[in-house]
Amino acid sequence: MAESKNINVLFLASEADPLIKIGGLGDVAGSLPVALRKISPAKLGGKKIDVRLVIPFHAKITKKFDNFQLISSFSVSHPSGDIPARAFLTYIDELPIYLIEGATILADANVYSSNPLHDTRKFIFFSLAALELAKQIGWSVDILHANDWHTALSVFDLKIRRPQDPFFQKTKSILSMHNMPYMGADSSTVMQEYGLAICECPNMPAWARSIPLPIGMYSADQLLTVSPTYAREILTPEYGCGLQDFLKTRQESIAGILNGIDEDSWNPATDPALPFNFSPNDVSKRINNKRALQKEFSLNINDDLPLIVLVSRMDQQKGIDIAIEGLRQVSEVEFQAILLGTGDPIIEAACRSLEVEFPERIRSLIRFDTDLSRRIYAGGDIILIPSRYEPCGLTQMIGMHYGCLPLARATGGLQDTIIDEKDNPRNNGFLFTSPTPTAFSEALRRSINLYADKARWMKMQLNGMQTNFSWGKSALEYAKTYLGLIGAEK
Ligand code: ADP
Repeated sequence: MAESKNINVLFLASEADPLIKIGGLGDVAGSLPVALRKISPAKLGGKKIDVRLVIPFHAKITKKFDNFQLISSFSVSHPSGDIPARAFLTYIDELPIYLIEGATILADANVYSSNPLHDTRKFIFFSLAALELAKQIGWSVDILHANDWHTALSVFDLKIRRPQDPFFQKTKSILSMHNMPYMGADSSTVMQEYGLAICECPNMPAWARSIPLPIGMYSADQLLTVSPTYAREILTPEYGCGLQDFLKTRQESIAGILNGIDEDSWNPATDPALPFNFSPNDVSKRINNKRALQKEFSLNINDDLPLIVLVSRMDQQKGIDIAIEGLRQVSEVEFQAILLGTGDPIIEAACRSLEVEFPERIRSLIRFDTDLSRRIYAGGDIILIPSRYEPCGLTQMIGMHYGCLPLARATGGLQDTIIDEKDNPRNNGFLFTSPTPTAFSEALRRSINLYADKARWMKMQLNGMQTNFSWGKSALEYAKTYLGLIGAEK
């Protein structure tokens, strides 16, 4: 395999933009494989990454797209009668995408349901079928790259098949963990249905041995998180979800690679949602977006008041309660704030109450609105990201690209992308350590004071706007990980 010019990567995900996107995983699975295929072989010792994406043929996909070619009908082995599967092929940006169809995938119109058994059946079938597909079409896989709990059992299946099946003998596996607390449900019933033994995983707590993500963590040759700091954090009790001691036994095989952002879509120079486009060359035009935002939300039109913003899922993870209390603590300081998000009704209500408390300067918008989020990134001065944990985070990178400085908790990918060092010429944001309103408000005061220093502020904005957050950069790191895993020269 080392002589081959291609590295064959079977990339499995439950969703991928633009075919189907529910959350951040859809962004990654839509962007990373395309970026991997674009890497010049010159950067990889003459090798090319032939990555092919496999996703379930969700009912919602058929309604939007129609150019799929049936390429294989096969079955997934099952003790009480093999289960039929079909695979379809389509291309997006020259990326081959296989879509797997089967009864459990068609059974539910939604990508994810609220019924754990339902989802377990769907995604275990998909995981096993995706691996079987490679064999059916005779495409030898160098790297099986699974993502999150939905596809983690493909890695387990590979570990079982590898010693028995010459086709998979040389296949190595990677499991990427995008949000560790989402591990999947107890799958013992469904695993038994498929004749899969419960994972014997030594060192793993008994409760985890029938849950997909931990089983994948045990089975994969390489574990990846979406930032280097999160890769270290999951080894601690605060972030390890009870698996930290097990993960320490796999420490040598855990690494973190930052996600990128789609820099074509998130480009303030061309973004059609903005009233005024701007770039690092004419950043002074940016202020017009702030004025437009103040007008849109009936706030005083005043360039000197720092406009603090938030664009977030309203979830305990995101620490919005910390920000709300912290904003109260600095209420003697002059500022304006716009909070945009949806999610937990308790957090939504807390945001609404804050607006009622400070009607002259705070606005809370409880909805999901991409165009508004773009206007907020372009017009806000400081974007709040007080997350309790953050595997990578996109908001801080988008904020920086739009000249909106992040104020964030020093955790996970936030810590890896934000530089808060007064004398560092690459300084681009503000960090606080303890997940408390007091630590948050101290950082907020610091940022508001600095806002008065226009020259330094603009320098920090330019630092963020000019940082390379492209998928191309991240993809190269993935490619090098693939090469390292199969023992090929870099
Ligand atoms: P997560 O995936 O954990 O929610 P990320 O920071 O990785 O957090 O990504 C969040 C993405 O969702 C960003 O693109 C952000 O702009 C977007 N987003 C979050 N809430 C909203 C909202 N209410 N309206 C529009 N976009 C939102």
